[in-house]
Amino acid sequence: MAPKNIVILGGSYGGLSTAHYVLKHVLPALPAQDAYQVIVVSTSSQAMCRQACPRAMMSDDMFPQDKLFVSIPELFAQYPKDQFRFVHGAATHLDHIGRVVSIAPHSSNTVTNIDFHALVIATGASTPSPLLGLNQDEVFLHEQWAAFRNALPTANRIVIAGGGPAGIETAGELGEYLNGRSGWFGSKSSKPKVSITVATSGSQILPALRPAIATKTEKFLADVGVTVLKNTRVKAVSPAEAGTQNVTSKATVTLDDGQILDADIYIPATGTAPNTGFIDQALLSDDTRIKTNNTFRVDNAGPRVYAIGDVASNVKHPAVHSILNSIPVLCANIKRDLRLAAGVEPSLVGEDRVFEEDTRTNQMVPIGQSKGVGEAMGFQLPSVLVWLVKGRDYWLWTTGMLWTGKHWAKEK
Ligand SMILES: Cc1cc2nc3c(=O)[nH]c(=O)nc-3n(C[C@H](O)[C@H](O)[C@H](O)COP(=O)(O)OP(=O)(O)OC[C@H]3O[C@@H](n4cnc5c(N)ncnc54)[C@H](O)[C@@H]3O)c2cc1C
Repeated sequence: MAPKNIVILGGSYGGLSTAHYVLKHVLPALPAQDAYQVIVVSTSSQAMCRQACPRAMMSDDMFPQDKLFVSIPELFAQYPKDQFRFVHGAATHLDHIGRVVSIAPHSSNTVTNIDFHALVIATGASTPSPLLGLNQDEVFLHEQWAAFRNALPTANRIVIAGGGPAGIETAGELGEYLNGRSGWFGSKSSKPKVSITVATSGSQILPALRPAIATKTEKFLADVGVTVLKNTRVKAVSPAEAGTQNVTSKATVTLDDGQILDADIYIPATGTAPNTGFIDQALLSDDTRIKTNNTFRVDNAGPRVYAIGDVASNVKHPAVHSILNSIPVLCANIKRDLRLAAGVEPSLVGEDRVFEEDTRTNQMVPIGQSKGVGEAMGFQLPSVLVWLVKGRDYWLWTTGMLWTGKHWAKEK
């Protein structure tokens, strides 16, 4: 008898945690008459600590590479072979009515179709700069970093668009790496070796944090030779592919206040775009995320279809800690739905679990390898604490437990 497929699209924080949780806590709770297989489909065969990109992009010496990138098939070798399958490829079409996903496999040109009994969409979001995550696979990311690193020694002017955490972290890391740290740059009496400019349309950088913290951040950035331009949006970049399709192209960056900045390297860090190009428009919200309710179900897509992580619309502030709070809720509802579909009495499956987002400010932003700013649950954090928790290794100390599934050893 063919197993019923529980298909998970995406091999990162949302997808891999869901797969571990389902294998550990959902499959054992299903009636034995049916067989189930968890199938993870991902464009990248490796998971990576995405938060580390602002530092990792500069040199392989920044992090142990075997911790930064880990093989997905190896992580799941711990489960029975008939219960798990990894498909290295990209979902290219979701037929939610026929309940089939089309996959372009990594190693062939022949599209394959996988039918599903349950589907979890965790395809995340891409950044305009390919330096900041797995926009394609790990090989592509390494190629982008290699090109960028080759261009760094001759770059005299770097322009970064975006005053959010990704832009500010990237500026701080590049500043310290290329200019070193000194109180001197801030005094304007000494010129940094490389001119690094961050342009933001906002009236302050790091808009999620209180203004006093943003001001302190500007001081830390000045110490590593970074200049901040506020209230000014990037209006045009020439050539258009600079920073996106070509990470090492020189660029002329025109700001909406009329300033023109010449850049040897241009890095757009202006947010993310959900990876939903393969999904019917009817399932998407205005910002192209998947319309997801607070039980993680995608109601318009039919039964047992769910979305989690950066691709889902039910979370206001997408972040890893929010995904970690989401997984037990999502998986409890998957378990309930699968048990009902398998004929278990409704009175025995329990109630739906509902997700409530913690909307308090939780943001830590390292500025190079020894400073940082942040707020947790509304409280300002001292620089040394940001360094201790995040700045030392950009959360790499946490990912081992997640990728191996040990974090999910107990049902929560
Ligand atoms: C530079 C940067 C720094 C960040 N720092 C922090 C931080 O410090 N703290 C924090 O909490 N959050 C941080 N975030 C946010 C955090 O990284 C995201 O919230 C998190 O990665 C989202 O996880 P995800 O599983 O939803 O998707 P993603 O991590 O985006 O992963 C998506 C996965 O889906 C795969 N995929 C994409 N398209 C397809 C397809 N068509 N078919 C199959 N597979 C596909 C990809 O290969 C990837 O495996 C940061 C984000 C960025 C960009």
